[in-house]
Amino acid sequence: MEAFTDQNETSLLYKGEPIHKHFPALQQSVYGKPLVYFDNAATTQKPQAVIQAITDYYSTINSNIHRGVHFLSQKATDAYEITRNAISEFINAAHAYEVIFTKGTTDGINLVADAFGSYGLGPGDSVLISAMEHHSNIVPWQIACEKKGAFLKVIPMNEAGELLMDEYEKLLDDKVKIVSLTYVSNSLGTVNPVKEVIRLAHERNIPVLVDAAQAVQHTKVDVQELDCDFMVFSGHKMYGPTGIGILYGKEEWLNKLPPYQGGGDMIKTVTFEGTEYNDLPFKFEAGTPHIEGAITLLSALDFIKEVGLDNIERHESELLRYATERLSEIPEVKIIGTAGKKAGAISLIVDGAHPYDIGVLLDKMGIAVRTGHHCTQPVMDFYQIPGTLRLSFAVYNTKEEIDLFMTSLKRAIQILI
Ligand code: PLP
Repeated sequence: MEAFTDQNETSLLYKGEPIHKHFPALQQSVYGKPLVYFDNAATTQKPQAVIQAITDYYSTINSNIHRGVHFLSQKATDAYEITRNAISEFINAAHAYEVIFTKGTTDGINLVADAFGSYGLGPGDSVLISAMEHHSNIVPWQIACEKKGAFLKVIPMNEAGELLMDEYEKLLDDKVKIVSLTYVSNSLGTVNPVKEVIRLAHERNIPVLVDAAQAVQHTKVDVQELDCDFMVFSGHKMYGPTGIGILYGKEEWLNKLPPYQGGGDMIKTVTFEGTEYNDLPFKFEAGTPHIEGAITLLSALDFIKEVGLDNIERHESELLRYATERLSEIPEVKIIGTAGKKAGAISLIVDGAHPYDIGVLLDKMGIAVRTGHHCTQPVMDFYQIPGTLRLSFAVYNTKEEIDLFMTSLKRAIQILI
């Protein structure tokens, strides 16, 4: 059955039923209240199909991959490679071997920062990131820079949380060896003009890594159209299991970079005198990977495909618009991050109340939000605030849930102020 939206977005369907019905975790009550889950940027809930796939994997496939000649090992290897092909199609990679399985976004960035640091950074060079990066796109580069005597430089942003593209161009000097930035800010919701960022970097032959942890679940991402050199994202933020993620890298870059970790599977031959590394993608997949995670990620992709990314994007942007409009009813609320183009998340502060206290009260009313710095401390420093309260959306959220949130937020404010 095809998923579709009609005028009333709460009827977004999957397999003929409202989508939230397919998420067992969303059927429960917390503190006697129906759960409203608005912490999707941290991790999404999993559809029944993914949960079932995990059980099926351990019941019928469980085996190590790329090693055994036996039936189960072949079955596991095939399923693992099927997901690689599906991911390749999902992001429109030119070749499936440009898709590397990782533990997640953090792992993918650490891989590139370490390998690129060895290959392409030297004393006095710089790595250019943006002012709104998640810590996982700051710290690995700081480590790589420290090892090589290189420097981290930062593309600034304005009060709305938009990158200053003029400043970016000025920063692109011949010392910059790589640009690494997020597609969508996890704490502000800003959608960055990554295509333009990449175009400008490529004019100077500088490669670009795109952190798509908050993008691929919300909008169609095409690595060839963007022309990014690397892209990373996490399975658990796109309705899949934890512990599995993706690094996409252009073939020419993955061939140039040295391996990140050594071990089984990433080699062709090993002697005590030296090792010949395996071909792509295996050169970057040392040891037994998260086989179950990779195989069951396919069910998450199928879910997204069946609902349709266009439908998801339309539905979530309507939720974002509606929540932004309704929040203007409360004079004490200030939205942090008012970029013209946003996706997935709204951050806010309330005059006279700490985000944490509001978050705790909302939790008691059954509403799960995230409070704090969202692993973007420099963003909080920029706005000179300790943290925000963040609402982040997934396809199963509804306007009715936003109404419930609004009523609960008003009650929390009454209690605290
Ligand atoms: N980058 C962004 C933009 C994120 O939002 C996150 C997680 O919230 C990460 C990186 C890190 O992802 P993970 O913890 O799955 O490695």
